[in-house]
Amino acid sequence: MALTSGLGGQLSIDLGALARNWRALDKVSAGALTGAVVKADAYGTGITMASKALHAAGARFFFAATPDEGMAVRAAVPDAHIFVLNGLYPGAANLYIRQNLMPIISSMAMLEEWLAKCVERNEAYPSAFHFDTGMNRLGFRLNEATLVRDRIQALGYAPQMVMSHLACADQPSHEKNRTQLALFGSVMTQFPGIPASLANSAGLMTGRDYHFQMVRPGIALYGGRAVSGRKNPMAPVVTLHVPIVQVKEARTGETVGYGATHALSRDSRLAILSHGYADGFLRSLSASNTRPGGKVVIRGKACPVVGRVSMDQVTVDITELGPDNIPNPGEGAEVLGNLLGVDDLADAGGTIGYEILTSLKGRYSRNYVGDGNLPPG
Ligand SMILES: *Cc1c(COP(=O)(O)O)cnc(C)c1O
Repeated sequence: MALTSGLGGQLSIDLGALARNWRALDKVSAGALTGAVVKADAYGTGITMASKALHAAGARFFFAATPDEGMAVRAAVPDAHIFVLNGLYPGAANLYIRQNLMPIISSMAMLEEWLAKCVERNEAYPSAFHFDTGMNRLGFRLNEATLVRDRIQALGYAPQMVMSHLACADQPSHEKNRTQLALFGSVMTQFPGIPASLANSAGLMTGRDYHFQMVRPGIALYGGRAVSGRKNPMAPVVTLHVPIVQVKEARTGETVGYGATHALSRDSRLAILSHGYADGFLRSLSASNTRPGGKVVIRGKACPVVGRVSMDQVTVDITELGPDNIPNPGEGAEVLGNLLGVDDLADAGGTIGYEILTSLKGRYSRNYVGDGNLPPG
């Protein structure tokens, strides 16, 4: 059930900013193709609208995690080239072929199933190959490279792309980046002439050595911080306002919320917001007497969370706004905006911007502003 009365939280997604971010990354990776990773509902922004805006901005290569997501991109952008990061699901080859989805093949079993389908239908359906250069997540083992090469050479099959994925790209000086780059280079010697892809957002920002023929940015498109310890150059895409339900006074020594973990050290004015962990305001943003929590902007000022975040509410200390500046019930509090963004909230909650964005599937009305057709910014 979508709640669209407009009375609840308002999630606003700036498709113009999304498009500008894609173009900015496309400039940085000039010489390589710039794909767009739209997995997990385009990092919470809505896979249909985001894919359309990215396509209007110039993106032609899309990366989904699952075949269902691939189908959503196919419906939104009929002429997209769509890769499925999680590969070929057993028994699903016909669906991939019907939808023109390219599995990113990561094991001999997947490869054999795909090749068997190609042989059966006498057609070299496109795919990509994923080699594991040190992440120990998806991908062929490195010592399978010659086996894979021999197998496809015997059939005269070639993949559209060979890729790998960096484990530590968010820390550009981490030595694992160079190690993976070198191992990937050695894999590619087995696949001469095939386009290669290694970089996520952070890899793209780390340098040209990582670009190869295709880059695969995700988080940076959506305004999140890709590289740690550096100013984030991307435009924010998401803002979130939630209504205040009640304002109340509480006295020194009283406690706030479940577990009574937070006692007030002064007489306080509190605002209770219509928003909780069920809406993606993570419970790790809770505050106690021993640990500060998240902040929410009310009337232009960052106000601290008090006590535990509940399922449907969070309590915020608004004492500092002053007695002549008391917000009214129904008034919006800014959870994500210019003052406090996705990564500020992530830092306060001990997580990453990716998790904040992909948790935004609460009881909001989503509203889209702009589109992919804005002039280059
Ligand atoms: C998620 C993902 C990306 C995008 O990563 P970001 O850090 O969001 O830019 C690229 N490649 C693979 C294999 C991924 O799983």
